[in-house]
Amino acid sequence: MVSYLDIVFDIPLKQVYSYRSDEKGEAALGKRAMVPFGRREVMGYIVGEHEGPPPDLAPEKIKAIRRVVDKEPVFGAVNAALARWMADFYLCGPGEALAAMIPSARRVDSTPSFTDEGLLGEGHELSGEQEAALKGIAGMYAELEQHGARVNSAGQKSRDATQMAYLYGITGSGKTEVFLRAADLMLKAGKSVIYLVPEISLTHQTAGVIRKRFGGAAATLHSGMKNSERLTEWMKIRRGESRIVAGPRSAIFAPVQNLGLIIIDEEHDASYKSGNTPRYHARQIAMRRSRDEGALLLMGSATPSAEAWKLMTEGRIRRFTLSRRLSGGSLPSITPVSLARTEGCLSVELKDEIRKTALAGRQSILFLNRRGFSYFYHCRDCGYELTCKRCSVSLTYHKSLGKAVCHYCGYRSEAPSSCPECGSLEAGFTGFGTEFIEEELKHTFPDLRVRRADADTTGGRGSLEKLLDEFRGGEIDILLGTQMVAKGLNFPGVRLVGVVFADTGLHLPDFRAAERTFSLIVQVAGRAGRYFPDGKVIVQTLRPFDPAIKLACALDVEGFFEAELRQRAAANFPPYTRLIRFTVRSKDEAKADRAAARLAALVRPALPPDAELLGPAECPIGIQNGNYRRHILLRGPDMAPIHRAASLLLDAYGREKESAVYVEADVDPVNLL
Ligand code: ADP
Ligand code: ZN
Ligand code: ZN
Repeated sequence: MVSYLDIVFDIPLKQVYSYRSDEKGEAALGKRAMVPFGRREVMGYIVGEHEGPPPDLAPEKIKAIRRVVDKEPVFGAVNAALARWMADFYLCGPGEALAAMIPSARRVDSTPSFTDEGLLGEGHELSGEQEAALKGIAGMYAELEQHGARVNSAGQKSRDATQMAYLYGITGSGKTEVFLRAADLMLKAGKSVIYLVPEISLTHQTAGVIRKRFGGAAATLHSGMKNSERLTEWMKIRRGESRIVAGPRSAIFAPVQNLGLIIIDEEHDASYKSGNTPRYHARQIAMRRSRDEGALLLMGSATPSAEAWKLMTEGRIRRFTLSRRLSGGSLPSITPVSLARTEGCLSVELKDEIRKTALAGRQSILFLNRRGFSYFYHCRDCGYELTCKRCSVSLTYHKSLGKAVCHYCGYRSEAPSSCPECGSLEAGFTGFGTEFIEEELKHTFPDLRVRRADADTTGGRGSLEKLLDEFRGGEIDILLGTQMVAKGLNFPGVRLVGVVFADTGLHLPDFRAAERTFSLIVQVAGRAGRYFPDGKVIVQTLRPFDPAIKLACALDVEGFFEAELRQRAAANFPPYTRLIRFTVRSKDEAKADRAAARLAALVRPALPPDAELLGPAECPIGIQNGNYRRHILLRGPDMAPIHRAASLLLDAYGREKESAVYVEADVDPVNLL
């Protein structure tokens, strides 16, 4: 008879709470329950069951749960164990980890979320390189099955080392086909597959391909779905009805049975790292799951992350290279063009190529990683700069709104007609965003159909998909956009890709600035000439001699990483060290300073001699949404010792923490702003 339950909540505490079970006995491990918590009623996750009361509590003090939310459990032992590990590694509460995994809906949706496409796709005959890669991958899996696997206490297979493979291949080299074949092998062997793709390209392309290929066996989880739809898919996966799951970051938690393979497409993509607590990285979770559950981890990209590249050169990830484009295209020619003497933002070279492309009846993609019209307001007389009232960042002028907008907190103000400080008329916005380019394009090419894809034009559900469908259907001549047009999208008609301003990310105070710039240019360039041998890429820059830009234009991935890794090693940055970041925020500046100083003082004695403490310092974005932001950074050659220091720090700090100050931990941060 189960009468007592262990319950955790979506709060930043390690604490597991004891409750008395319900009378009907519906409560069970893996279900959610509404319970009294302080003066409120909140939802908790049942993570343990006991016959007797916990030894350290008087039974009459233990409250009963109010009611059970789920008819059948929504998570099992594997998720619970993973949540415990996540709570420990990412320095969060176990309930926060479960909340990040499980769709938050209370009820499953009774309407089926997808219809099958009918005829299942066949796939291509593999090229020699693809064949070799698939064989190698199958061989690795066979080895994994034969040796290594043993069974741990949760009934999972467990290995000492992770088996990892990487498909390193230029865009259009047929990585997807190899992923699908590898998945097919697994499904035929009775195993399950998790297939991760970056957030944006998801529903549209890969998920469609997967559903076409595997029909009813395929499930999709993504953020565009209603929570109830996600829960419906989730339960199908738990019951084993779906054995291949496609989705972005959070799909790594899919409760598949008998996991055989995890695929991470576009492994370098920043969307695999969560932007809020718990700040997990899907690749890290994938490594953990594949090890615990005896699965193979297969990643792929044309521009691997520096972390993955290092592991490949050390032989810890086995690399398979695809070097040729298979769809009739060839690699585009890439020309860097200096913007130094250009008036406006379209160089003569870029305008010529846009015209040529249109005359040939083909399409152009222009990429600029900055939305809005213009983003920097400056007075030439007194030096005044217009920044957000609540954040220490410049406001961006949005012409369509007629307002100056903060991209960090959403604050809006009127665009000043003269300098608010000295009244001078020699003041105004400079620097161009996508809205500005759109205007210049429409003005320069009145006969061409120009469309813009950024967060301002694709707000509604499905509107990006619609825009991309129109582009694919040839109804648009020039597609202009941010990140959204850079990711793994595949458009046969594209001849020209223009990077409007390649330098946008180079000046950020972040050691990954060069890597991001490099990989973005190579990825965007990969959208050109996939099916025809005449692809053309123009990269506009003010720094044509910057190594990241030069090497990207030469598509020299090896050359870039050789130089970049040498610099990272010299500067003691990842992948040669590991980082843990603590961010402090408070509306009260003195409190933020005090808390950051205390964190630093508490952690300093706990750090091993080969680790360092950087800070406390003001974050590069010193104020956000009215909160003063400070941070400290722990850095060391290995994770374990700095992680131990970080845990001790949180315990010590938690015992006497100040009110109205928030501390957030980020293990392996990718954003240092
Ligand atoms: P990647 O994922 O490496 O960027 P894709 O998988 O999108 O590349 O492949 C690019 C194109 O090549 C796709 O249109 C795909 O259908 C085609 N393709 C893949 N494998 C083959 C093959 N073996 N023979 C012919 N075409 C192929
Ligand atoms: Zn002024
Ligand atoms: Zn703001």
